[in-house]
Amino acid sequence: MPTFLWKEIVFGPIHSRRVGNSLGINLLPTGCKVCSFDCVYCECGSRKAVGADAGSCSTLPSTVEVKEAVAVRFKALASEGAEVDSISFTGNGEPTLHPGFAEIIDCVVEARDKYFPKAVISVFSNATMVHKPEIAAALSKIDNPILKLDAGTEDLAKKMNRPCSTYSVEETVGRFKELDFKFIIQTMFVQGDVVDNTTPDALDAWYSAVRAVNPGKIMIYSIDRDTPVAGLEKVSAEKLAEIAAPLLKDGFNIQINA
Ligand code: SF4
Repeated sequence: MPTFLWKEIVFGPIHSRRVGNSLGINLLPTGCKVCSFDCVYCECGSRKAVGADAGSCSTLPSTVEVKEAVAVRFKALASEGAEVDSISFTGNGEPTLHPGFAEIIDCVVEARDKYFPKAVISVFSNATMVHKPEIAAALSKIDNPILKLDAGTEDLAKKMNRPCSTYSVEETVGRFKELDFKFIIQTMFVQGDVVDNTTPDALDAWYSAVRAVNPGKIMIYSIDRDTPVAGLEKVSAEKLAEIAAPLLKDGFNIQINA
């Protein structure tokens, strides 16, 4: 199924369901996805399916290249009067895998303050690097560290996220509990024969994990574009509202992006 790779380091602004007019920052190669997960629903496609520009798959943009792209594009967009609600680290994979992530965050915070002082900075991350002190420290400097938790059981996480190496829900929950800043949990819900994280058992486990983590906010959503794995079904807005209800009752702040 067709999926999508970003071709630039700084792209947009584009309209995002979750964060409004979003200026994207892609710290990954332009020719393929680089991620520690290979989620069944990933809009970048599956790990093996590289883009036509596969020659550019081997290297990440350097920290210097990223800083230059930020300086040039932010200045140009500000002079054009572009409206930017959010500066979002997203793109072709997992941004925290970039070795210059912490340094780049500092540079983007400075550029945001200079050119788009009202914009919030968001990082969409699968949270596989939050145990590293420098990554956690960098995430603590931004407005919206948005960390993935799709499943409350190991089995379901393996099916949903297809991690490249060891991944443990229990360990991840433990790491979240140790973070000393407020963060957002993001959870993708899908149904279908391949994987379904909306069953009563799956939801019970996810509720327990979320309650244990006690995030500042929870974002729940379902698929919106083509997925690399066939047979996934979008979860309706009504079902997402049903899923959110028990946590809303507990007083959690939940954003539903249907
Ligand atoms: S964590 Fe994000 S980038 Fe990585 S495979 Fe999953 S959806 Fe794709």
